[in-house]
Amino acid sequence: MLSDEALETIVIVGGGTAGWMTAAALSRITANGRTKIRLIESDEIGTVGVGEATIPPINAFNQLLGIDENEFVAATQATFKLGIEFVDWLRPGHAYMHPFGEFGLDIEAVKFYQFWLKYSREQSIPPIEQFCMSAVAARQGKFLTPGADPRSVLSTLAYAFHFDATLYARYLRRLAEGRGVMRTEGKVVGTTLRGEDGFIDHVLLDSGEEIEGDLFIDCTGFRALLIGKALGVDYQDWTHWLPCDRAIAVPSHRRGDPIPYTKAMARPAGWQWRIPLQHRTGNGHVYSSEFMCDEEAERLLLETLDAEPAASPRQLRFTTGRRERFWEKNCVAIGLSAGFMEPLESTSIHLIQAGISKLIALMPDKSFARVEREEYNRLTAMQFEHIRDFLILHYKATEREDTGFWRYVRHMDIPDTLQRKMDLFCSKGRIFRFEDELFGESNWLAVMLGQGLRPRTWDPMVDTIEPQKALQTMQHIHRLMQDVASKMPTHQAYIDRYCAAEKLTV
Ligand code: FAD
Repeated sequence: MLSDEALETIVIVGGGTAGWMTAAALSRITANGRTKIRLIESDEIGTVGVGEATIPPINAFNQLLGIDENEFVAATQATFKLGIEFVDWLRPGHAYMHPFGEFGLDIEAVKFYQFWLKYSREQSIPPIEQFCMSAVAARQGKFLTPGADPRSVLSTLAYAFHFDATLYARYLRRLAEGRGVMRTEGKVVGTTLRGEDGFIDHVLLDSGEEIEGDLFIDCTGFRALLIGKALGVDYQDWTHWLPCDRAIAVPSHRRGDPIPYTKAMARPAGWQWRIPLQHRTGNGHVYSSEFMCDEEAERLLLETLDAEPAASPRQLRFTTGRRERFWEKNCVAIGLSAGFMEPLESTSIHLIQAGISKLIALMPDKSFARVEREEYNRLTAMQFEHIRDFLILHYKATEREDTGFWRYVRHMDIPDTLQRKMDLFCSKGRIFRFEDELFGESNWLAVMLGQGLRPRTWDPMVDTIEPQKALQTMQHIHRLMQDVASKMPTHQAYIDRYCAAEKLTV
């Protein structure tokens, strides 16, 4: 039996990736027969229309929604993503892979990478990425879903997707509407707060319709119509740590078979992404307007495409940071209205997913207990800050001094939390995951090593293992991964066989 306090109406304002992900996930709770979900979106305003690369936790979201992977990949013109290659970040001419998945196998409970740290100084040991199944497959242009057998090295492969953001929202919309979510097309032109407690009572549409609700989800993107404009929750600006504040995005025609990873190429005042999809390639130049003008940023992007542009370039402006609070009164901000960090590690869609999971875990009733709001805000703030630190690392740990932008980021002050991580690593290569942190040991390891950090020494536990045994194990893992990858289908062959999309030209 449902309590009288159970929510009756949840109103989602916004129909971008955030709005439809939220609607699709929350539609599962409408199975109680009482809670109705309404989503309002404005065709006139439209969506941000970017956001094409994801990280492995999206697989859990797909499972939660009961999505068939092959159908989803085909419907969104998606490809598989095994990691990100960072080009020219440490110095021009240098490249490294931040792959998904773990490195090697621990030897007698001592971290695998600790052996690599020791023996790669003394002997000719392959680069660390050659001990990660996802990286080995990525470099060979191969893909296969990981097997279920935990004894097989293939089970250590981890993956996510690149997809067309517009098709993704459309796909989720079908799913959500199929589960009873009611969509209203219209523009919200006003928000009325209740006199007694300042909670949102209803929103007013340009048609004159008033839409009431118990819980409102603000998915209005950078506009932050409810959380910012109506409820006045401030925004913390992190531009001093992450100075990029603009992006120019442009699709280009596909050239050759799609690679199973994203490319992030450093540029004089920022960086450029290249995301392969089935029907086209997504490109964008993220830059700091302090250090580069828009015309120069666009020229550089167009000059460095690997094929002809398929549409006109589009500019986007943003302020890196987060809301002071994400859940205020009866309103929860999910998506760009909650905050934004540049897409260097493809974390925004994940933050949407994480927001939804926490909301489901802390689903309120009409009493809106303060403790639940506070916990949501505490956990979300922590998640934003962990990701922020991880992104700053890419800029701070560089040898580049060749432009004003790189000199600035190399010498800027950084948060104490990040300094501590870097100091711990530079001492004996130790990495600790903070509470509920998204990026784990292997992520930090890949980027810290890739960005040129080297520990002074290694964990003394390494010296308790016979060198012969350690070296043989390393050699075995290396050979095994190369061998397994060589037998995998190419990324294109896998797509052709299981999840080819309708042929579209852009
Ligand atoms: P939007 O897409 O802006 O949607 C807002 C919605 O609110 C729209 O439906 C709009 O019509 C509606 N709306 C607004 N005002 C009103 C109103 N008054 N009345 C009614 N409706 C209204 N994320 C990743 O995970 N990976 C990436 O690779 C990635 N790349 C990115 C690159 C760039 C340059 C940028 C800027 C972002 C990127 N992101 C990426 C982030 C990602 O695009 C967003 O997190 C995601 O699209 C969610 O956006 P949203 O739904 O919050 O906002």
